[in-house]
Amino acid sequence: MSYISPTKIDEALEVLSRGSGKIIAGGTDVYPSAQPGQHPDFYLDVTRIDGLKQISLRDDTIHFGSAVTWTDIINADLGPAFDALKAAAREVGSVQIQNAATVAGNICNASPAADGVPPLLALDASVELASHAHGARVLPLAEFLTGVRSTALRPDEMVVGLQVSVPPTNMTSAFEKLGSRRYLVISICMTAVNLTLGQDGRIADARIAVGACSAVAQRLPALEASVIGQRLEKVDIKPEFLAPLTPINDVRGTAEYRYDVVQEQCKRAIMQAASR
Ligand SMILES: Cc1cc2nc3c(=O)[nH]c(=O)nc-3n(C[C@H](O)[C@H](O)[C@H](O)COP(=O)(O)OP(=O)(O)OC[C@H]3O[C@@H](n4cnc5c(N)ncnc54)[C@H](O)[C@@H]3O)c2cc1C
Repeated sequence: MSYISPTKIDEALEVLSRGSGKIIAGGTDVYPSAQPGQHPDFYLDVTRIDGLKQISLRDDTIHFGSAVTWTDIINADLGPAFDALKAAAREVGSVQIQNAATVAGNICNASPAADGVPPLLALDASVELASHAHGARVLPLAEFLTGVRSTALRPDEMVVGLQVSVPPTNMTSAFEKLGSRRYLVISICMTAVNLTLGQDGRIADARIAVGACSAVAQRLPALEASVIGQRLEKVDIKPEFLAPLTPINDVRGTAEYRYDVVQEQCKRAIMQAASR
């Protein structure tokens, strides 16, 4: 087994096209899940590739290179629409994990409890992919994530970055996470809200995403539609608006408990985003 750490994207894609390798970024999911005696032919470390550590603005789109860590997100000068993503970043593991772990690794690992996914769904993020044989493509995050630990990534492909259209300056956001303790904890459920309030105080736009309550984190279109046009005091999170969610009973909580928590998280996140 070899460990390859290229500095050029073309070189990385050529290495990937050889097959049977494993991409590694911060390694905070790769190493804990490695099984004794089972190794890929090579690890491809993508964290030293030129340009992938950058957060940049091009053509009204913000690009996050795939080597951008949670600490980079926390330290970046992003608008209030990214407060939910920053709050999620502060909740990922510990400071040591945030320093090493990447946002791209979080989405590629495709855990239902990945804290980065709800805020990125609420930002309407897309995933930039590239391969040696097929070139580049861009997929909405909701299409990239296909199931538990399952993505649309092809074997010879890597995530080059994430992109988010520059949000309106008056869009705010908030993130709520529930775990069984304060730090270093897998989410029981989490909710991200991006909100725009109109001049009249009514909600002009709302994007609401919930994680750890279905195989893949979900936006809640019926809930979003119900709050748009409403005054904050009229917001009512009816259980039927949570229909796309399919929470499970597990050691962290029952499905019923998760439904209750999500209702409360949605309300809190909407109020918190509105107060910003
Ligand atoms: C102690 C601890 C606490 C944690 N706490 C949390 C938490 O609170 N919330 C949370 O969401 N997660 C948590 N995690 C999980 C993990 O830290 C995050 O998912 C992290 O963002 C993964 O990023 P990484 O760079 O370390 O990914 P890696 O481990 O390097 O990679 C993860 C997966 O993504 C693939 N991959 C990585 N980069 C690319 C790329 N550019 N293109 C294609 N595939 C790629 C890898 O092949 C692998 O399958 C925790 C982990 C640990 C060890």
